[in-house]
Amino acid sequence: MFPSAELIIACPRCKELAKVSAGAPGSPEGVIIWSDGFQDAPFNERPPRVTRCGKCLGYFWTDEAQTLGYILRGSTPPPEQAHWADAPAIQPLDESGLMNALAQGLAYSPELELELRVAIWWRGNDIFRTEDAPVGHATSKDAISNMERFIEMMAEGAEDLLLFRAEALRQLGRFQEVEASLQTVWCSDYAPAKNRLLELARSGDRKLRKLFDSPAF
Ligand SMILES: [Zn+2]
Repeated sequence: MFPSAELIIACPRCKELAKVSAGAPGSPEGVIIWSDGFQDAPFNERPPRVTRCGKCLGYFWTDEAQTLGYILRGSTPPPEQAHWADAPAIQPLDESGLMNALAQGLAYSPELELELRVAIWWRGNDIFRTEDAPVGHATSKDAISNMERFIEMMAEGAEDLLLFRAEALRQLGRFQEVEASLQTVWCSDYAPAKNRLLELARSGDRKLRKLFDSPAF
């Protein structure tokens, strides 16, 4: 997809049109990596993976919608596609929107369920992405049961999933399990994150924290 283009998609249920922006080319500048693995990347915003149709209100995976074509930014589409310009931009979902999408069966495989559950966790954590967040971790029943569910699902997971798992355990205050979850994370790329999570868990810290202020490259 061209960075200077907008993709026109159709809702899988009702065929209502929507626009997807590709975003500007990425830059590592200003990237913040958080202890839950989420990256604030102001110069590399990606289109939402899941959205909700503005007309039929159905939830869908953006990449499963039919693509009708592109509009190059700053150009006028041909007359037969003039209505494309009026299509609304797809919107990201917040924590409760993602929970509704999950409840309505959007996760039809374990991989998609994990992706959706991690996204729910990230959006719930967004309110703690400030220096002086008073609590720093989820306290609602729904957010906690979501974390408990993906912790269970990730028990035999790959090393990147074990890092997510360890962080969720830390935020729940299950510090001994953090150590156990990280025991089989050996990849040297993950060593700085692993060591930081262990350090936080050993000091009894449950708050969402910055892992690094800039990427490690
Ligand atoms: Zn629709």
